[in-house]
Amino acid sequence: MPSRYGKLIGSIDAGTGSVRFLVFAAATSELLTYHKLDLETLTPKEGWVEQDPLVILSLVEQCIEKCVGYLVELDIDPNDIVAIGITNQRETTILWDSLTGKPLYNAIVWSDVRTKVIVDEYSFKLKNTEFLKAICGLPISTYFSAVKINWLMSNVDEVKSAIKNNRCLFGTVDSWLVWNLTGGSDGGLHITDVTNASRTLLMNLRSLTWDPHLVSLFSIPSQILPQIRSSSEIYGYLKAGSLEGVPISGILGDQQSALMGQSCLAPGQAKNTYGTGCFLLYNTGTAIVNSSQGLLTTVAYQLGPQAPITYALEGSIAVAGQAFKWLRDNLNLIGDLNEIESLVQNSTQGSSGEVVFVPAFSGLYAPYWQRDARSIICGLTDETSKADIVRAALEAVCFQTRDILEAMREDCGLALEKLLVDGGMTGNKSLMQLQADLSGVPVIRPLMAEATALGAAMAAGCADGINAWDPATMPPPCSDEFYPSIDENERDMRYVKWKKGVKRSMGWDL
Ligand code: ADP
Repeated sequence: MPSRYGKLIGSIDAGTGSVRFLVFAAATSELLTYHKLDLETLTPKEGWVEQDPLVILSLVEQCIEKCVGYLVELDIDPNDIVAIGITNQRETTILWDSLTGKPLYNAIVWSDVRTKVIVDEYSFKLKNTEFLKAICGLPISTYFSAVKINWLMSNVDEVKSAIKNNRCLFGTVDSWLVWNLTGGSDGGLHITDVTNASRTLLMNLRSLTWDPHLVSLFSIPSQILPQIRSSSEIYGYLKAGSLEGVPISGILGDQQSALMGQSCLAPGQAKNTYGTGCFLLYNTGTAIVNSSQGLLTTVAYQLGPQAPITYALEGSIAVAGQAFKWLRDNLNLIGDLNEIESLVQNSTQGSSGEVVFVPAFSGLYAPYWQRDARSIICGLTDETSKADIVRAALEAVCFQTRDILEAMREDCGLALEKLLVDGGMTGNKSLMQLQADLSGVPVIRPLMAEATALGAAMAAGCADGINAWDPATMPPPCSDEFYPSIDENERDMRYVKWKKGVKRSMGWDL
């Protein structure tokens, strides 16, 4: 007998800072339960950012088991879970041994910049790297997987030997999870989806296949690459645990998943997700829009093997929430992230915005793409308080969003009428109001904050053979709205200061 909620869909959300499993009711999109565990990041050297792939897998398994327990406590039958979707931090690169199932090295996280030298060498060798954008939509950067694989092949003996023995497999976090959850070395599926593949520098945006020219350019042995599948189809089944036998039928990179979870399914709709980094995606429909403003062209989703491909323009900001962890952990300026809101109320950082903080810990991403930029805090006086610095860190996220909005307007000729937002930082109301003030665009925040996980659940639920969810008929979510409350002069004056700060951060090493 079907339960009172009907069919349920599970969603694995393997983010940079945490891993979650969430259970949604397909009929209503209601979030019924979830469990979240923090994920540790290792920084063995300056600029190196790693995570343990086995820990990621174990956290996923723990979260699933916890949620099954919660469902039982809620008197909901876990057998009503008819499908599972996966959404994940993108670009993060894992190589593992297909026989032992063991990682050959830690996961190299997207924000890691150890590959600077490789990027410099390629930039020098290729002189003009514009052709890359035409094929895969991306510029050459430390951000993407191909250069991380290249580093692993050159620097890790275990990788060299596994490749020689044809035992090396590459995957982003989605691939690693699917391979393990569907059987691992005992027949696990080695796949990824079009959205994750579009972040590697290796996939051709038109054919949605690994591009032979790019694969050879980055010296990647093609046998290590996963099969590219659509974002919504039954790929395989969980091989163990309480949900054994449940199909995995949706995969979306986290930002694309948030785009879907925010129901930005029509061209011209956009969302901004504020987490470790901040990512603004703009649905361009079936058109591949090449940016002249430093934005990325990426696959938004393909809901089924025969379904049309939807593309997006993306503005990626490397450091958003991460800046607050830095203020907390490295400077001890705040004790708890929840203090930020009350602290910024005390800031005297008035209309002139004296303090500017440019958090360029991974260089600057869109629209600047300056891998050598350095973080700076400038404009300090003897009156400056920690509240001013914390507020400047919030403003940095808002100004970087404005940078992206301006670039999108240049590329598409359209100004956004509203900004749909989600992600861990959006619980911070001061940030939401500042964003509306500093961008001049109303900010719409859904009350259900888990848009990223919702998107993957929608993709899994609408797969052929599951047919539990129709994203096109979802009602708009209930939301909070924040409206600009400062005038244009003040907004622009503060933006000019920000731009000065950016210029200094880029010129630091010159
Ligand atoms: P991810 O998906 O990248 O792991 P989340 O969406 O879970 O990230 O958001 C976590 C990020 O949000 C962390 O970097 C954290 O510093 C930041 N954050 C959490 N609460 C606040 C807050 N109240 N104000 C500002 N930033 C916050």
